[in-house]
Amino acid sequence: MRGLLALTALFVAVLGKETFEGHQVLRIVAKDEIQLSLIKDLEDMSEFELDFWRGVTDVETPVDIRVPFHSLQSVKIHLETQDIEYSVMIEDVQMMLDEEQEEMESAARVAEPRNTDSFDYSRYHTINEIYSFQDMLVAENPNMVSKIVIGQSYEGRPLNVLKFSTGGTNRPAIWMDTGIHSREWVTQASGTWFAKKIVTDYGRDPALTAILDNMDIFLEIVTNPDGFSYTHTNNRMWRKTRKPNRNSNCVGVDPNRNWDAGFGGAGASGNPCSETYRGPSAHSEPEVRSIVDFVRSHGNIKSFTSIHAYSQMLLYPYGYTRTPVKDQTELHNLAKKAVSDLSSLYGTRYRYGSIINTIYQASGGTIDWTYNQGIKYSFTFELRDTGRYGFILPANQIVPTATETWLAMMAIMDHTFKNPY
Ligand SMILES: [Zn+2]
Repeated sequence: MRGLLALTALFVAVLGKETFEGHQVLRIVAKDEIQLSLIKDLEDMSEFELDFWRGVTDVETPVDIRVPFHSLQSVKIHLETQDIEYSVMIEDVQMMLDEEQEEMESAARVAEPRNTDSFDYSRYHTINEIYSFQDMLVAENPNMVSKIVIGQSYEGRPLNVLKFSTGGTNRPAIWMDTGIHSREWVTQASGTWFAKKIVTDYGRDPALTAILDNMDIFLEIVTNPDGFSYTHTNNRMWRKTRKPNRNSNCVGVDPNRNWDAGFGGAGASGNPCSETYRGPSAHSEPEVRSIVDFVRSHGNIKSFTSIHAYSQMLLYPYGYTRTPVKDQTELHNLAKKAVSDLSSLYGTRYRYGSIINTIYQASGGTIDWTYNQGIKYSFTFELRDTGRYGFILPANQIVPTATETWLAMMAIMDHTFKNPY
């Protein structure tokens, strides 16, 4: 097994990008608790090399799994013999990736944008394109936007945060991050759109103007830069960080299981080869540690939103424990309002609630830590879609996704502004 993995890694090194020919994404729905536990058993069958796009929640909530070609027949037989219902969500993952790549390349053939007005928000961009977008935005708005480097990734890339501020010192602040899971491309693309939206709306939209006249906004677009770069160069399906693990051939830590909130508890893995590997210790990843240090040294962050994809949910703490947060009622009502604002644009339906009640138990998550730090308005989004395309959301959905999500973000920011604590 280890030999096979090493061989696979060698092929990737020699041939470049990992391909997903014949891989399918299966949607599986359990009818009862017995079937649910049989589906859960698949998590431990490492020989199948399954990739859980949407993990096991409860009976009747679908589980989406990318199944490599070599295990497709075995998995289907496993399901059929247990009488578990499934459907094929994606017939051939590589075909979808080829389309995505073709679109990106045709967009890249157009001249490089000279400013943020000519930047194409309806396309996916590489890390360098996003970095140069950030620099253009700062250059165009020197009185409002600055770039702060809060640290360095494991591979030495800068962890850039855009600061939107109209003055003052250490004003109460709002934090947003996108792309902590690198393959969730619609999130970094939405973050880029948000950045432009903020400078465009200031002075035009009264609600945003009032917020920015009193508070600062921090936005980290490429929160996992090593992983993001790797999704472009080597493996589109990469989720974790890129730090090697001691005594393992498997690379990377799940940066949304690495925070010091129930760290090491249920809903995270101690196996470095797992997609939900929590890491050797809390805050072991520089990408996480840098945000921790920033939040602590700032000391006046009032709202913290970490943006993921997919499945269309707006979530608040906790994920690691069933104990409700003390602000449960207020957060629940705010989530309800944010989701209703979001849906008002295109009718996109979102579920909302605490992480543990809405998805599943997950320990070491970002917003559980920020909430325990005293940041009351801590939220996580799961953006579009509900699985038709999953992580390979077509680029023509970027702007609609960002636009509707912004309505929900505005609800959260406005509430934070109007309810100082
Ligand atoms: Zn995620």
